[in-house]
Amino acid sequence: MRLSQSFVPTLKETPAEAQIASHRLMLRAGLIRQTASGIYAWLPAGLLVLRNIERIVREEQDAAGAQEILMPTLQTADLWRESGRYDAYGPEMLRIRDRHERDLLYGPTNEEMVTDLARNAIKSYRELPQVLYHIQWKFRDEMRPRFGVMRGREFLMKDAYSFDLDYEGAVNTYRRMMLAYMRTFQRLGVRAIPMLADTGPIGGDLSHEFIVLAPTGESQVFYDATLEQLDYLQSDFSYGTPADLAAFHELINSYYAATEEKHDLARWAEVDAAQKREGRGIEVGQIFYFGRKYSDPLKFSVAGPDGDTIVPEMGSYGIGVSRLVGAIIEASHDAAGIIWPASVAPYPACILNLRVGDAACDAICEEAYSRFGGRALLDDRDERAGGKFADADLMGHPWQIIVGPRGAAAGRVELKNRATGAREDMALRDALARVL
Ligand code: ATP
Ligand code: MG
Repeated sequence: MRLSQSFVPTLKETPAEAQIASHRLMLRAGLIRQTASGIYAWLPAGLLVLRNIERIVREEQDAAGAQEILMPTLQTADLWRESGRYDAYGPEMLRIRDRHERDLLYGPTNEEMVTDLARNAIKSYRELPQVLYHIQWKFRDEMRPRFGVMRGREFLMKDAYSFDLDYEGAVNTYRRMMLAYMRTFQRLGVRAIPMLADTGPIGGDLSHEFIVLAPTGESQVFYDATLEQLDYLQSDFSYGTPADLAAFHELINSYYAATEEKHDLARWAEVDAAQKREGRGIEVGQIFYFGRKYSDPLKFSVAGPDGDTIVPEMGSYGIGVSRLVGAIIEASHDAAGIIWPASVAPYPACILNLRVGDAACDAICEEAYSRFGGRALLDDRDERAGGKFADADLMGHPWQIIVGPRGAAAGRVELKNRATGAREDMALRDALARVL
């Protein structure tokens, strides 16, 4: 993308309405704009980040055996009356009436709808287990939308739903999803700790929240620092057999981690003092095992092997895709701006042309730009160098390829690593080899 032609409206001033760093930086870097309270438009650079997160979430869901579908945002109230949640959900649910006076709602979650899809299609035990997921906008009429996309009213969620024949199967699926989540967060370049959690309005018996540490987080959390060090992408952690997944779950559970609601002072006292971590955290995902909480009232059953009837055991698994954009920034920024992990950055690098119109600068910038196949950002604006440096730091590109007239004449550029701040003078060829 050529910055001179792009719609990336960066701001020099700090927007007054933004209380936390990620909200300020998302506005200043031109990623989002608010269109109504808690409702945001995603601008080109912000959308690239959102899509990168979606892609990684999708790849890991697929690898864990979940199948992608796409359910609508609007749902009929009748389904929710069947589960009893239409009245129970309260004012967070946006209720809508169509021209035929039928009650609809903008889905805050999809347990009812997915159970309806399953009960209409799945008739035999042979067709289970199944895990279905989608990445779709949700609406919750939050009392206090705030912190930008972190607590919006409309937000993008990945939600998966599992159907198993028995408790053992459901727990195995729960563990598989937990591993998929740890792999997902690691690939996103963010450290999320799995913590025993309360189940809230989704209900159920077993739940974990995935928490990113940040002083501006809304939950108080307590955990053993060992959980920060596990590498979930290595082969020790595999989906393999149920025994492999049980071993993974046991390992996780052997280290203390809990939200305030589940905090157990007696167990906490046993944690090695040097390993104790306590602080604020942002919930970026939550998984639930809730058995027959929805399959029972919605009368979903399948024929068993001996002519018996089986009511499937269910779970649901959410990731806050749009909240993650803010959470990643909360965990990764400095005074100058965002520091994107490479896997989610909108552009892998920014090429800064410090003297637009200088033949050597223009030539080397165009050469670099074409090597990225248009995926890099080329700052070809007719602006002072200082403004370009500030915007590149603000936007948080992992690499900056800085092209000034003196170096350009000799085929040299300066390569800056945004995270470390290290700058190195080198041939363009070497800079490209490093970045690509
Ligand atoms: P919270 O406690 O933060 O209100 P929740 O527990 O109600 O969230 P879940 O039903 O667990 O939310 O939804 C799954 C994920 O969706 C959450 O872990 C979170 O990352 C994200 N999420 C929930 N509410 C919002 C919101 N208002 N804005 C942005 N993301 C949200
Ligand atoms: Mg939750």
